[in-house]
Amino acid sequence: MSVKHPLLPKAAYGSESRPPKCLYCSGESFTLLFAGIQDRLRHVPGEHTFWKCEGCGSALLVPMPAESELGAFYPAVYSFTLETQKQSQLKQLLAAVEYSLFFQPQYFGQALQVLNHIGRRPQGQRKLLDIGCGRGLRLLEYRKRGWDVHGSDLQADVVRYLNDELRIPAKTGGFSEVTHLFPAASFDLVTSYLTFEHIPDVNEGFRLCWELLKPGGWVAVLVPLIDSAQSDFFGKSWVNITEAPRHLSIPSQNGIENACRAAGYEAVKTLHDHPLGIAGAFALSAVPAGNSTQLYGSGGLKPLLFRVLGAAAMFAGLGFAFLDRWQGQVPAHGLILGRKPD
Ligand SMILES: [Zn+2]
Repeated sequence: MSVKHPLLPKAAYGSESRPPKCLYCSGESFTLLFAGIQDRLRHVPGEHTFWKCEGCGSALLVPMPAESELGAFYPAVYSFTLETQKQSQLKQLLAAVEYSLFFQPQYFGQALQVLNHIGRRPQGQRKLLDIGCGRGLRLLEYRKRGWDVHGSDLQADVVRYLNDELRIPAKTGGFSEVTHLFPAASFDLVTSYLTFEHIPDVNEGFRLCWELLKPGGWVAVLVPLIDSAQSDFFGKSWVNITEAPRHLSIPSQNGIENACRAAGYEAVKTLHDHPLGIAGAFALSAVPAGNSTQLYGSGGLKPLLFRVLGAAAMFAGLGFAFLDRWQGQVPAHGLILGRKPD
């Protein structure tokens, strides 16, 4: 079906053709997974389609938008922010509560998980780059542990905030530009949280991280996984599916591990994301109207009510997150780690 979005070239949509090649395993055989998917934020109109790779099981959006179009898919308030000074006192209070009960423990846990896995390097201060760093809230957790932290993000105002308010050196640019923004072989760790599913070339993504890493350095990439129980449970209502067309693909665990190995990384492993992160995806799938774009990007009490309902759903999600981990299932959000050989 054709989509009449004024910001998009017509050629980018309207095709029902299959993906030419899987982003994760280069497979060329696909089955239809979900059609008629609508943007959960109602920002990009029209319906979107996902195909499933028969080789590795990863899901691919068709047609794949061009990189130049992607910026237009994001609403002004897209992710959680602590900068709510222009909002009501109630929302400011809510943002502070959400940060201390949900986001901060999650980011703390995520940083600790990576650092525990990669171990400590013996000499000097270690250097980290987070690609697609958003408001830098994860970087703060690494900085508390003595890391020299750097960030990059597509949004110039986010980068200004990092530089001016958080004193974190950050640069503006898309994923494909990172090697022009930072010197090669200069980082001990390159992280990218919930970014790979937004980029059109995953192999290129791993290659760019490789170029920025010192020998012996680690890449850590958090992605939603299509072969998880949470994905099966929600089907086409899963928040990572209704995030189309901002989500261009959703890998299977095997798919992304293979792509990571194919890029040359060793010791490739997938860990479960922090239970709060997994429960957050559960809550947004169960109560789609409880997203932060609705709450912090618009007025009124209705989004607030849905946010509270979402918080209640999160407790159910926490139960599932612990169960998946206990049973050794594919996690709803997996952290893929790989090491660049010495
Ligand atoms: Zn594949």
